[in-house]
Amino acid sequence: MRDPRYDVLFEPVRIGPVTARNRFFQVPHCNGMGHRHPSSLAQMRGVKAEGGWAVVCTEEVEIHHSSALDGAVEGRLWDDMDVPAHRLTVERVHAHGSLAGIELVHSGLNAPNTYSRVPALGPSVRPVTCGTPSVGREMTLADIADLREWHRAAVRRSLEAGYDVVYVYAAHGLTVFQQFLSPRFNARTDEYGGTLENRVRLLREVLEDTLELCAGRAAVACRIVVDELLGVDGQGRTVGLGRSEMEAVFGLIGELPDLWDLMVGEWDFDSSTSRFEQEGYSEPFVHGFKQLTTKPVVIVGRYTSPDTMVRLITQGITDFIGAARPSIADPFLPNKISEGRVEDIRECIGCNICVSGDWLSVPIRCTQNSAMGEEWRRGWHPERIAPKPAGGAEAKVLIVGAGPAGLEAAMWLGRRGYEVVLTEASRTLGGRVVREAALPGLAEWGRVRDHRVLQLEKLDNVLVTLESPMTAAEIVGYDFTHVAVATGATWRADGLGRFHPAGVFDDALTPDDLLAGRRPGGNRVVIYDDELFYIGGVLAELLAGEGYQVTIVTPESKVSAWTVNTMEQHKIHRRLVAAGVTILADTTVLRHEGDVARLACTYTGREHSVTCDDVVTVTFREPHAPLVGELQALGFAHVQAIGDAFNPGTIAEAVYSGRAYAEAMQAPDLGLGVTPFRREIIGLAGR
Ligand code: ADP
Ligand code: SF4
Repeated sequence: MRDPRYDVLFEPVRIGPVTARNRFFQVPHCNGMGHRHPSSLAQMRGVKAEGGWAVVCTEEVEIHHSSALDGAVEGRLWDDMDVPAHRLTVERVHAHGSLAGIELVHSGLNAPNTYSRVPALGPSVRPVTCGTPSVGREMTLADIADLREWHRAAVRRSLEAGYDVVYVYAAHGLTVFQQFLSPRFNARTDEYGGTLENRVRLLREVLEDTLELCAGRAAVACRIVVDELLGVDGQGRTVGLGRSEMEAVFGLIGELPDLWDLMVGEWDFDSSTSRFEQEGYSEPFVHGFKQLTTKPVVIVGRYTSPDTMVRLITQGITDFIGAARPSIADPFLPNKISEGRVEDIRECIGCNICVSGDWLSVPIRCTQNSAMGEEWRRGWHPERIAPKPAGGAEAKVLIVGAGPAGLEAAMWLGRRGYEVVLTEASRTLGGRVVREAALPGLAEWGRVRDHRVLQLEKLDNVLVTLESPMTAAEIVGYDFTHVAVATGATWRADGLGRFHPAGVFDDALTPDDLLAGRRPGGNRVVIYDDELFYIGGVLAELLAGEGYQVTIVTPESKVSAWTVNTMEQHKIHRRLVAAGVTILADTTVLRHEGDVARLACTYTGREHSVTCDDVVTVTFREPHAPLVGELQALGFAHVQAIGDAFNPGTIAEAVYSGRAYAEAMQAPDLGLGVTPFRREIIGLAGR
C-alpha cells in the first residue's frame, strides 16, 4: 500500500500532446550500448518502463555523420537504416505503458568525426573539444540550413520509430545548439552571433521546426544548460553562459518547447560522484527556472529519497523527478514507492562505475544493480531470478565471507529458494564496503551492504552468522553440497605491481593496515600509488586530514589516473592540492631507507629523494581463498571462489560475481568454448 504522502509523485502530467502517467522521468543517459548493441539497449530501457518510469529516454542520438562521437558508442539516427533499432526500443518501452523519448544531438565542435572523416562544424572556427587535435569549421548560412534539414529528418525518423517525446539538445557543453548560444564558441557577426537574440536564433528555429513536425504526435523537450558554471577569466570577463543570461533565454523562448529538461555545468557536474556532491546538489542552480515558464520542467540530482522528491514537487521546483543513475541502480524505484516498499529501493551510491562503461565504450554496468546491461544478453532481471530447478538434486549452499560478493550471492540464491548459510568471520556484514565507507567522501558506499542486509532479513531460507570464521575441517563436518568462498583479497605490501616486477619495500604500510586503523609512525608519509583507481587518493586525503605531511607518487601521468573514467580525476587532483598533498606524477618509488624515499622519473630514470618516515604502498590485492584448496584436498567437489577471492577488482565486479554464482547454481554446463551470453553481430551489407 502506498503511503498517501507520496501520492503527488504518481499524478499524471501533461507534456504537450502526450501525458506521462506519473512524475518519474528517466532522462537521457549514455550506456555504452548505443548503436552497437540495440537489443541489449531496448531490453534495458524496457525494464525501466516495467519498473514504473513514466518517461524513458534514449541516450544522445547522433542525427548525422558530421556528428559522430567515434570511440564512444552513442545512439544513431543518421538515416533510415537506423530506424528499426529505435522502433525496438520504443516497443519495449510502450509495452509497459510508458512514453519513449529520444534525445537528438548534433555535437558540432564536440564531434571528432574520425570515422566519417568530415570536418567538425561550429558557430565559429574553434578547436574540436573532444578527442582529436582538429579544428572545427565555421558554419555558413547554407550549413545552418543543412543542419536544420538534418534535424528535421531525424525528427521525422523519430516519429516513424514511434517516439512520444523528441528532444532538442542544448546542454552538457556537447551540442551545436549550446555552442551557438555560448559566447565562448560563438564569435559570429551575422544574425546568428552577437546579441542574445541572435545567439538563441538557431535553437529557436530548430525548436519551431521540431514542433511543426511533431504537431500533436509527440511532445518537444529541450534539454538546456541553465549555468555553464565557468565563472570569470583571469581578465575579469564572464566566461560562457551564466544564470542571468539563461534566465533571459527563458524570457525569449521559455514557452516554446512542451517541456524543459534543466541541467547545470558539464557532464562531470551533472553526474557528480557522492565523493564530491550529495543528493540534490544541482537544486540551487535550477531553483526558480520553473517560474520562468508555464511548461513542465524536469531536473536531476541523484534523488533516491521519496520525501525529497515530494518536497521538490510541492515547493514548485520541478514537475518531474528526473533520474539517470537512480534509475540505473534501481529500475523499479517508482514501483517500490508506489507499492509502499520504500525500504526495498536499491539506492545509487554515486560511484560512477556506470559512467565508466560509456568512457570505455562497453555496455553499462552498475555497482548496485548487477542486472544492469545484462537484461538481454544474459536474461538477468533487477528484481527477479528463476527459482531453483524443480525436482533436481537438493543443494545446500554455504557462503563464506559477507562482503559484496557473499551478500549478493546469498541474496539471489535465497530468492531462488535454496537453503543458504552465510558466515562472516568478523562482527559486521559488508566486508570491504564497510571499511571503505568510513573513508572521506565514501559514506554512501555503505548502501551496497545496507540494501543486501535488509533483503536477506526477508529470506527465511538464508541463515546469516557473524563471528564465524570457517575452516575447511569444520565445513566438511556439515552437510553443505556447495561452498562459495567469498573471503576477499589482501593488499600486497612490497610494492610489486605494474611498475615494479619485484618487491621493493619491506616495511611499508598497506591500505588494509590503514583501513584497520594503523597509522604511520612519523609525520612525513609517501603514498606509492600504482593501482591508479580511487584508494590511493582517498588515503592521501585521509592522512592529510589527520595532519600528516603527504606526498603521493604515481608512475602514471595523473594522480588516481583511472578515475578519468568516473569523471573524478580533476576533482581528486584539486582536492588533494587543497589538502596540502604533494602530487608527484610520472614518478616511482625505488626504495625507502631511513627517513628518505628514493624516487625516479619513469621516463628518464633520473633519481631524487624526499624525506619520508613511512611509505604506504598501493599496488594490487592478492586473492585470499585458502579454503578452496583446503576443501579440494579434503575431497569436497563443489567449491568455488567468488568476488575478490577469485579475482580482486571493483566492488561492482564482486557484486556481479555473486550474482553470476547464484545464476549458475545447478545450471546446465554449457560446454567448453561456448560464449555464456547472447551477442549482437553486425549484419553483412548486401553485395
Ligand atoms: P568481496 O569484495 O569479494 O565481497 P570482501 O573483502 O569485501 O570481499 O569480503 C570478504 C569477507 O570475508 C570479509 O568480511 C572477511 O571478514 C570475510 N572472511 C574472510 N575469511 C573468512 C573465513 N574463513 N570465514 C568467514 N568469513 C571470512
Ligand atoms: Fe549509481 Fe554507481 Fe550504479 Fe552508477 S554504478 S548507478 S553511480 S551505484
